[in-house]
Amino acid sequence: MPYGKLYIVSTPIGNLEDMTLRAIRVLKEVDVIAAEDTRHSRKLLNHYGITKPMISYWSEKEKVRSEEMIEKLHSGLSIAIISDAGTPGISDPGVVLIKRAINEGIDVVPIPGPSAAIAALSVSGLSTEEFTFIGFLPSKAAQRQKRLNEIVLEPRTLILYEVPHRILETLKDMEEIFGQRQTALAKEITKLHEEILRGTISEILNMLETRTIAGEYVIIVEGKREEAISIEEVLNEIKSLMKRGKGRKEAVKIVAEAYGLSKKGLYDRSLRS
Ligand code: SAM
Repeated sequence: MPYGKLYIVSTPIGNLEDMTLRAIRVLKEVDVIAAEDTRHSRKLLNHYGITKPMISYWSEKEKVRSEEMIEKLHSGLSIAIISDAGTPGISDPGVVLIKRAINEGIDVVPIPGPSAAIAALSVSGLSTEEFTFIGFLPSKAAQRQKRLNEIVLEPRTLILYEVPHRILETLKDMEEIFGQRQTALAKEITKLHEEILRGTISEILNMLETRTIAGEYVIIVEGKREEAISIEEVLNEIKSLMKRGKGRKEAVKIVAEAYGLSKKGLYDRSLRS
């Protein structure tokens, strides 16, 4: 008996119409559907009249559940995995099983569809030539800032996921560490309250002051631009502003904003110059 196939099926990130015809067919044809949360996915499956045995898998249980699924695949059953939204394995469970299946020589078949990262990038207006997916930043402030400092020099467009109760903190940290880069904040993509805010990080923070923070967000931020000006020239500009009476902090702020540089990094450099 040949091994069953493992299908990685993308599902809508809000709007149920974003289900592909192929995804519906595959979910109707497989023997078992493995869902991140069976209760959540039942709604989608009911909507499309899909009635199949379901098993649940989630991050903590993924290892144990993967072994059970590998046994089923070995016995010839085909399995589709779906997550709560978007593409399984993208900031979602799925990778443990996918790796195990590949090692076992099982066919792993993509059934492409929505992913919040690509949907947000596509409407960001920022460069799509090269991009880096960061996913979720650490939830603790110190670790989050450390991670942002690690990626501050990345020249490619950055894609980040964030939960609503941390969106302000994260954007404030990004404002501090990244300076004034062009950014797009994509909220509730494909849903009723979909909104895309575009501007510098500070401009977006200002826009959020008059808005309700709720729902799901993707942050797209431009990568570090090639400096059209050398660090010596930047430091000279700070010095000349200080000679004209500005305090160091203010001079650094003006120059950092003008060139889209990190205020903190520039302040530290100016102390050493
Ligand atoms: N696997 C999913 C995908 O392919 O996009 C991502 C799952 S991850 C657990 C959930 C995060 O994705 C949210 O916190 C948010 O950052 C982003 N997200 C998911 N759906 C979204 C939507 N409709 N609008 C904006 N962001 C969304």
